[in-house]
Amino acid sequence: MEEKRVLIVEDEHKIADTLKTGLMEHGYHVEVAYDGKIGERLYFAHSFNLVVLDINLPGINGYELCRIIRNHNAPMPVIMLTALGRLNDKIKGYDSGADDYLVKPFEFQELLVKIRVLLKRTMSQHLPVGNLLQADDLIMNLDTKEVRRGDDSITLTVKEFQLLEFLIRNRNRVVSRADISVNVWDIDFDTNSNVIDVYINYLRNKVDKKYEKKLILTQTGMGYMLKAA
Ligand code: CA
Repeated sequence: MEEKRVLIVEDEHKIADTLKTGLMEHGYHVEVAYDGKIGERLYFAHSFNLVVLDINLPGINGYELCRIIRNHNAPMPVIMLTALGRLNDKIKGYDSGADDYLVKPFEFQELLVKIRVLLKRTMSQHLPVGNLLQADDLIMNLDTKEVRRGDDSITLTVKEFQLLEFLIRNRNRVVSRADISVNVWDIDFDTNSNVIDVYINYLRNKVDKKYEKKLILTQTGMGYMLKAA
């Protein structure tokens, strides 16, 4: 069975590190962020099967991060950890989209069981979890190499796929032609080469042309940006 990837966002280093060690012993791949903002960055930089989220965090709090994750990938399982055991806090947690809740201090075994249950649920529903990248209604599956926009399946060549992956990973940031050539082609094209513009056009024809909302934008003189909400 493939390794499940868990993101832990928890500012108490001791708790975060203990959880990481415990989960790794049970075969999970674990990334840890001690800060909400860094958690958000890690979430978008890698793909995860489940997120364990503290509520009181520096940067952005667990409620906000949970909402961001929900908007990005609705089926992503999220377990919230908190020292706050009051009913109102639980309701707020569920309102922000948490699937489950653990009040500190808790037994590691309890978390383990909750993780197993949630992962089993997402798998039995055949929800699109795993190696996914998403920007609005555009979804790339890095395992199967499938690309979808809304209900449409899109066929890309290898280079188009790599270019789109690079743009999605850098969503809402302008990437220069030099960034693209080094990262996608592994070479630095000379500035007269129009290879990248040609490939951007190929991509646009496939992922943007027939859709009202355009995702790939040109920033004149600077490069390109994949714009997603
Ligand atoms: Ca905390």
